[in-house]
Amino acid sequence: MEENSNFIKTIIKEDLESGKHDKIVTRFPPEPNGYLHIGHAKSIVINFGLADEFNGKTNLRFDDTNPLKEDQEYVDSIKEDVSWLGYEWDNLFFASDYFEEMYKRAVLLIKKGKAYIDDLNADQIREYRGTLTEPGKESPYRSRSIEENLDLFERMRKGEFGNGEKVLRAKIDMASPNVNLRDPVIYRIAHATHHNTGDKWCIYPMYAFAHPLEDAIEGVTHSLCTTEFEDQRPLYEWVVAECEMEATPQQIEFGRLNLTNTVMSKRKLKQLVDEKYVDGWDDPRLPTISGLRRKGYTPEAIREFVMAAGVSKGFSTVDEQMLEHFVREDLKLKAPRTMGVLKPLKVVITNYPEGEVEWLDAEINPENPEMGIRKIPFSREIYVEQDDFMENPPAKYFRLFPGNEVRLKHAYFIKCEEIIKDENGNVIELRCTYDPETKSGSGFTGRKVKGTLHWVDATHSLPAEFRLYEPLIRDADLNEDEGEDKSFLDYVNENSLEILEGFIEPNMKDAKAQDKFQFFRHGYFNVDPKHSTSEKHVFNRIVSLKSSFKL
Ligand code: ATP
Ligand code: MG
Ligand code: MG
Repeated sequence: MEENSNFIKTIIKEDLESGKHDKIVTRFPPEPNGYLHIGHAKSIVINFGLADEFNGKTNLRFDDTNPLKEDQEYVDSIKEDVSWLGYEWDNLFFASDYFEEMYKRAVLLIKKGKAYIDDLNADQIREYRGTLTEPGKESPYRSRSIEENLDLFERMRKGEFGNGEKVLRAKIDMASPNVNLRDPVIYRIAHATHHNTGDKWCIYPMYAFAHPLEDAIEGVTHSLCTTEFEDQRPLYEWVVAECEMEATPQQIEFGRLNLTNTVMSKRKLKQLVDEKYVDGWDDPRLPTISGLRRKGYTPEAIREFVMAAGVSKGFSTVDEQMLEHFVREDLKLKAPRTMGVLKPLKVVITNYPEGEVEWLDAEINPENPEMGIRKIPFSREIYVEQDDFMENPPAKYFRLFPGNEVRLKHAYFIKCEEIIKDENGNVIELRCTYDPETKSGSGFTGRKVKGTLHWVDATHSLPAEFRLYEPLIRDADLNEDEGEDKSFLDYVNENSLEILEGFIEPNMKDAKAQDKFQFFRHGYFNVDPKHSTSEKHVFNRIVSLKSSFKL
């Protein structure tokens, strides 16, 4: 992580030097109510990265205090994603395992006269809370006796009341300029089955009460969160102090990470999944970790991206091209090169002997020669790209057109002699001749051609499906702009997925799910783990080769 931009590191260094802590403990605390996204990756990189750097510990803690939205599927996916990103947690915890302890601390608050049971409903509580400019009003139930509060709280736990009938509130200050301190609700009734504790509880702690306790129970030293929680810091500190916790974790805020042309909140991502705008939480168009993985992103690229985006306090919307830059960088030396034709046009090489095949040598990665060579077949019939032919080309068109000669990558020069059309006038085949003198690697210098095309042999190639992606959201800065009258769904790009049926080199036969390749001229692709079959590989385009992005 960059030295000067990381103010959190400075705080940690000071705390270790001053002896405030001997060892730091951080935590990554997702709520299991959805899959992780690239924003979470920032939190993961910061929390695990800092602990690694200072020889501390990091807990993976599921912040599972809301039974209505949480699910085991999310727990499993979060564990998988954190591991895949390359991090190992020191402890795996569930906040719901602390419910008994949290209940005891709430009772302690009641006994100290620092919490009370309120019968106002949610709307009334909101109304009584006041605004930034107007002080709040005290609830008529605020003066209940300690005995009555203890009795009611116990009966809430026993299930004597319905959802919303009563809440437990901290008794702080209804006139505080900080609205968060105007007697926040700290327990509510929810008769619901919890993914971990089942039906054991029907009252649940609110985030603002639960989170500081969770941190303190685990001995977290630095509780890193995003800046929306800045105004809640005084409440965080109040809870830790008034609940008489032994450890006193320090809350430190950093800026959220956002990407252009997407949405990031789990609520919105879930809606896209539930309403089938996309093919599951791991759809390659989503900014989820599982979506990026399925698209073909590597953990290295994601980590490098997050670190380059920095740990500043500011809210940043980062151009998705920056993310793409890092995956190109990572795959450049790793990904084997290959050729695939996405929109095939048959070419018959009329002077090539019928029935003959030759196996040509092609380097697997010219930027990493150690990867060796592959063999590719060449025979009388091949496929080229439809887009590499024009019957009436403009000036400076160097690909195939009648009478023009081009180079076939790793093979020979061919010249377009004749066009075959169907009854509608569509070009369905080209007849070409090749020049045996021009074989690649033969040292031929007799004449030059300007265009080099990729191709595959028609008789030996394998069928393949190619999936090309465009941004899912048409507006670059939707995360900030979304107006009240418009839903983000109005900005969904209907053309975000294009599926093409083409052909690949036969040596790709054994390519496995998640293997990554650079297809000559088309970019980097990943073998899709969901849709590939033994008959047909499906490739997701990770990123094209061109980029205007500069760091
Ligand atoms: P969302 O609003 O997207 O649903 P969340 O904050 O509710 O996210 P949590 O499961 O509570 O999701 O997040 C776990 C941790 O990840 C928290 O500490 C949170 O601050 C952090 N986090 C979530 N989104 C981002 C983001 N975009 N950038 C940086 N950190 C994030
Ligand atoms: Mg949250
Ligand atoms: Mg959320």
